[in-house]
Amino acid sequence: MQSDLTFAALGLAEPLLRALTDAGYTEPTPIQAKGIPAVLGGGDLLAAAQTGTGKTASFALPILQRLMEAPRARNGRPRALILTPTRELAAQVDASVRSYGEHVAVRSLAIYGGVSLFGQSKALRRPVDIIVATPGRLLDHLSQGTLKLSDIEVFVLDEADRMLDMGFIHDIKKIMAKLPAQRQNLLFSATFSPEIRALAEGLLHNPASIEVAPRNTTAERVDQSLCLVPQNAKRDLLIHLIRERQWFQVLVFSRTKHGADRLADQLSRAGIPAEALHGNKAQNARTRTLDAFKRARLQVLVATDIAARGIDVDQLPMVVNFELPNVPEDYVHRIGRTGRAGAEGSALSLVDPDAEGKQLRAIERLINRRIERVVVDGFTVDEAARPAQRPPRDAQAPGQRHSHRHNKNPARQSERPQGRDGNPPRRSRNGAGNPRARG
Ligand code: AMP
Repeated sequence: MQSDLTFAALGLAEPLLRALTDAGYTEPTPIQAKGIPAVLGGGDLLAAAQTGTGKTASFALPILQRLMEAPRARNGRPRALILTPTRELAAQVDASVRSYGEHVAVRSLAIYGGVSLFGQSKALRRPVDIIVATPGRLLDHLSQGTLKLSDIEVFVLDEADRMLDMGFIHDIKKIMAKLPAQRQNLLFSATFSPEIRALAEGLLHNPASIEVAPRNTTAERVDQSLCLVPQNAKRDLLIHLIRERQWFQVLVFSRTKHGADRLADQLSRAGIPAEALHGNKAQNARTRTLDAFKRARLQVLVATDIAARGIDVDQLPMVVNFELPNVPEDYVHRIGRTGRAGAEGSALSLVDPDAEGKQLRAIERLINRRIERVVVDGFTVDEAARPAQRPPRDAQAPGQRHSHRHNKNPARQSERPQGRDGNPPRRSRNGAGNPRARG
């Protein structure tokens, strides 16, 4: 996925190149190779790029360069505004900007909810160049007069599709109305719905347009499989797999906040350190949980889609979908948490064939492939043995692990891909197949 170019050839200044060397980046990713010169050129940009492609650096580096070349005005007001859908993403983008801008005198500040407004207002009294913000909290500061957007030269909408999904369209419009007319606009989005196109049309003027890769390349880098398992047997299967395959850094997606809490509790009670991450938790609790997970002190993180947006763990080896998402694109986003920046990862979905068949078909249509079925005797149901729609009346309730379809002896459990007799199962590279390995 890397290009042959160097960062120097893209026209970046020496202090930025030094920061990239510090970060261990040797070559630009495709979005950086195309995006950096486009943004340095000063025009508007429409970019189709998912998280994991290196998109943050593709806008952060040229913005830093532009700002370092023209010293800030005396009023100390921000000159670049980056809007993100979630607090985690805002914090993460701010951290990236600070790291790329390590050797330049440009100050970045993250503004998001869940933390004290007062502390942020205080930080805003000092001159600042770049604001990375979520829409709601930014509007709070605008209405309190603690922040003015009159000097914004560059405006970035990051993960614009997700912002619209989260209902931020009115907030975005209110914010755009406060920006000076003369400015550079950059819009990043993983998907292009008619709503995104309408937003782009209103925002961008003669934009350069880049699409770095076909939409589902993330999906192609990830080893995907699924287990057909009744909803009420999923927890036991997950516990079994975590133990059996020795997964030590697992991100589990839950459809609801309540479900995330309950599953984290159940795993903890089974002796597997787990915590939930979702929007109902206080910001400092979320930061603490995420930090423990990143440092691999926490074995399992159970997250909702929205809370997981900003999670950036290098080479996260394993993602589990405890339930399939309703929106098939979310499946691609979820599995994009693993296999990032060229690394390989594994994603396993636990699918209740009765309740989630429709979502599964929509996902397989979107990614244009059939996800491999893995059989775990004693837990999964056999697709071939299932009647087309409904289970026969004499079948046991879903979740009865010892029905006639299931192996009665858990000690002889085996795992094999369905319909591929004789082939070994595709295993997670995180220790599976090697009982002593730790991820
Ligand atoms: P992003 O898509 O911006 O979230 O970036 C995904 C991950 O790739 C982050 O962990 C970055 O630190 C990393 N990354 C970005 N650009 C490069 C690069 N040129 N070489 C290596 N890693 C990179």
